[in-house]
Amino acid sequence: MYPVVDEALCINCSICQKVCPVTKHEEGSCQGVIAAKSKDDNERFKSTSGAVFPLLAEYVLNRGGLVCGVVYDDNFNVVHILTSKPVEMQKMRGSKYVQSNLGTIFADIYEALACRMVLFSGTPCQCDGLRQYLLFKKANLENLYLVDLICGKTPSPKVWSDYVDYLERTYKGKLTSFTCRSKAGGWQYPYSQVTINNDDISARVNKDCSWMQLFTISELSRPSCYVCPYTKLNRNSDLTIGDFWGVEKSLPKFTDNHGISLLLIHNSKGKELFDGIQSDLYWINSNKDDCLQNRLIAPSPEPEERSAFWDLYQKKGIDAVITTRGRRSHVKIIVLKYLLPMARRLKLYDVLWTIYHQ
Ligand SMILES: Cc1cc2nc3c(=O)[nH]c(=O)nc-3n(C[C@H](O)[C@H](O)[C@H](O)COP(=O)(O)OP(=O)(O)OC[C@H]3O[C@@H](n4cnc5c(N)ncnc54)[C@H](O)[C@@H]3O)c2cc1C
Repeated sequence: MYPVVDEALCINCSICQKVCPVTKHEEGSCQGVIAAKSKDDNERFKSTSGAVFPLLAEYVLNRGGLVCGVVYDDNFNVVHILTSKPVEMQKMRGSKYVQSNLGTIFADIYEALACRMVLFSGTPCQCDGLRQYLLFKKANLENLYLVDLICGKTPSPKVWSDYVDYLERTYKGKLTSFTCRSKAGGWQYPYSQVTINNDDISARVNKDCSWMQLFTISELSRPSCYVCPYTKLNRNSDLTIGDFWGVEKSLPKFTDNHGISLLLIHNSKGKELFDGIQSDLYWINSNKDDCLQNRLIAPSPEPEERSAFWDLYQKKGIDAVITTRGRRSHVKIIVLKYLLPMARRLKLYDVLWTIYHQ
């Protein structure tokens, strides 16, 4: 879904440009850097990083507010929903590494904000797009809490839906659950959990072609991801959450393999959210240097082979993409599963990672 101006209807008011977060990007701030993890290990196991999001959501729901986040619908489309129900919020847990469909959510939030607190979670461009839209609509922003993610890319929903189709064809049944990045192999090892007709086929899918392998293909990103203005610490959301990659170097005693979150507090509302969940967290102050990961420094560059990739996809479909790019080599599996964790323990991680990429 790309925005296109219908020239036949356009009245040249320029409102679309005035509310576009990319053309009207404003510099934000970063007032605090924190490493955090839920005190409850079972909760952490169900989330992608340190399970900070569910705590934030509970904080808002307990105050009569609404939470907006990303779930799979019945056909495994990745969509944003707005809810007051804890059971629906639980489905938002876990990163779905696909661009979500926002549907009419911005308009729904505009209406809800007149009388209720709303916590919106999404990619930084979605958060900033919502903020610009609501500013333009002169909405009541007092009730709005914006929690964005550290994000490097949002792969194509079209390829994702073809991947779901591929799984159902190959494993002969209906996809019944999908977790992009479970912690079955530890937080640092990308392992998807998948059931078809409620049978666990995770081991076969991870060996054959996991979505996390396709997620690493930069060609699947939107063109805007290659020039993303949000790959930095300073932002206009209230709070940013992500994985605290590299935490084992700066905070070795705080680190474990069940998931550590990085929190960036941008303003007083972000601080209010953090204060509200603090008692349920183990946390420790970090700093702007120690938390830097690639996606807080610059966007990932556009690969030269992007158009060749899409040509192949248009002509031969998902099966060709999986055959040529979707399978982890034995070398990659050995490096990701065994050598890198060992290198982390021996503090040789940076050296090995550089050699591997070269
Ligand atoms: C597309 C994508 C790319 C990411 N890239 C990075 C990265 O490069 N570096 C990094 O440190 N962290 C990245 N993350 C964030 C990280 O994976 C975790 O989502 C985040 O740390 C929250 O973890 P948690 O344990 O607190 O929450 P969880 O309980 O796991 O909750 C997940 C949260 O992510 C939201 N979410 C899930 N899927 C989507 C989606 N498709 N679009 C928008 N929001 C979604 C949910 O609404 C919820 O708020 C990315 C997430 C996504 C969705």
